[in-house]
Amino acid sequence: MTFAIHGLAVSRGIAIGRAVVVASSRMEVVHYFIRPDQVETEIARARNARNAVIEELRRLQEEMPKDAPGELDALLDVHLMLLQDQALADAIRNWISERLYNAEWALTTQLEIISRQFDEMDDEYLRERKADLEQVVERILRHMKGAANPVSPPLAPADAQAPAPGQQLALDGAVETPLVLVAQDLSPADMLQFKSKVFAGFITAVGGKTSHTAIVARSMDIPAVVGARAASQLIRQDDWVIIDGNEGVVIVDPTPIILAEYGFRQRQNELERERLSRLRFTPSLTLDGQKVELLANIEQPGDGAAAVRAGAVGVGLFRTEFLFMGRSGNLPGEEEQYRAYCEIIDGMQGMPVTIRTLDVGADKPLDKAQPKDYYLNPALGLRAIRWSLADPAMFRTQLRAILRAASHGKVKLLFPMLAHRSEIEQTLAQLRQAQVELDARGVAYGPVKLGAMIEIPAAALTVRSFLQYFDFLSIGTNDLIQYTLAIDRADEAVAHLYDPMHPAVLRLVAEVIEASNAAGKEICVCGEMAGDISMTRLLLGLGLRSFSMHPAQILAVKQEILRADASKLAPWAQEVMDSDFPAKLLEH
Ligand code: PEP
Ligand code: MG
Repeated sequence: MTFAIHGLAVSRGIAIGRAVVVASSRMEVVHYFIRPDQVETEIARARNARNAVIEELRRLQEEMPKDAPGELDALLDVHLMLLQDQALADAIRNWISERLYNAEWALTTQLEIISRQFDEMDDEYLRERKADLEQVVERILRHMKGAANPVSPPLAPADAQAPAPGQQLALDGAVETPLVLVAQDLSPADMLQFKSKVFAGFITAVGGKTSHTAIVARSMDIPAVVGARAASQLIRQDDWVIIDGNEGVVIVDPTPIILAEYGFRQRQNELERERLSRLRFTPSLTLDGQKVELLANIEQPGDGAAAVRAGAVGVGLFRTEFLFMGRSGNLPGEEEQYRAYCEIIDGMQGMPVTIRTLDVGADKPLDKAQPKDYYLNPALGLRAIRWSLADPAMFRTQLRAILRAASHGKVKLLFPMLAHRSEIEQTLAQLRQAQVELDARGVAYGPVKLGAMIEIPAAALTVRSFLQYFDFLSIGTNDLIQYTLAIDRADEAVAHLYDPMHPAVLRLVAEVIEASNAAGKEICVCGEMAGDISMTRLLLGLGLRSFSMHPAQILAVKQEILRADASKLAPWAQEVMDSDFPAKLLEH
């Protein structure tokens, strides 16, 4: 039966594929892809575990005391019958060989499918056999856990909920059916594991438009819908699903006519992308000859190639926190960070790289295990620069690594979430201390331009004092909107209030741009607003000449710039600013 689920459109495009529903099983198991040459070994692993459990149950039956209740014997018979069911064995074999799922994943996927069939049965006795099946599968899983290592150990921790594509690179092309990921929630770190494009799209039940998970999806340039409530309950394993990332709609079990329509739209999107790719080498100039700098936001050192391919003239925001995530507290040291920063500097081929110091907190946890309840209010708690200043040794390790990397190329150092003058002074003192430490070790380092993110209303309102301390500013509109409008950017329940066009937000953005331009300091927008083509003309009209966004958005924004006449946009932008309802004027 065809039905639609509505959510928030967070990453454009259309994906059509089979659903891989994760984290809906009550059993926590590792999920990862195997290589095609590991299929037989993996099937054997599942078979051996099943045979071992059969042996175990038979032994139990033989050794059962004479006075044991008769039901126990009957129950073991049922379990043995389920274990020896050829249909179960065939289905598991199928998930492994066709989808390259690891054995545990194959087993729990099949368990979910059979569980649903049990749920739909009229006969109560049969319905209750579901619990037996679960026990049997649990026994097999336990056996696998205790047995020898799997053929390819997963990259993710052993209790990972989402697939950890340990061997995902080998998967490209090996599985012909496109897969879309359906989950209750995905952390930014989970998302990073999908970077090699194993999945054609993804759907989560929770999340807002500028949640960090959505941002990573955009950076991967794959269609995504978040906030699609109940998606992980309504969508079944292996259902055909269409993700319309433009409209924020998910269509489950589409009819052939709907499939054909979306297949057509998918091809149209591809043609549009191809057309845009021709703009890559076109200089980014407005019609009246104003130069506009288009920079890339990146999350990983290896992302430089995509940035260069998209025609970025530098990195405007390197979110270094992704280097620190998913490491179970084992944070990267100076040497490892130094190498990562050098990798991106080399990748950018002489273009400037803006490295932002660590921006973690409860909204971007370092590890899944980090207890969320610990924070009274995640967005207002120990985040970003506050976190760094609370752990000066860790902060200076990062600063030393960045300073050293700066001797290899043009580096700009950016600090997130500053609000207080005292924080600015402490931050700069830590930087000086890091330089002293490098001097004492006789280690070379390079010059860096210093920048602050303006992402708290207090910072925007006191921008002049920021301009005294820093060489450049970068407006983080994602957080600026969150804190100005008091809405959690990750919470889909208030997503409708997340409004970049709110007059209060626009006023703060406009004033920061104006003050920076008047002081002759560089000013950039690196929040999602910079990559939103409906905002390009307004930002140009407000005097912005530097935009930083995910590489996938650069060419569409460039197209807007090529069509814009900046001199005419300035008076129009003023009209928008003076209006009580700016969004209305933006439509024209
Ligand atoms: C922002 O807040 O706009 C920003 C760019 O930083 P992040 O999204 O990483 O918080
Ligand atoms: Mg921010």
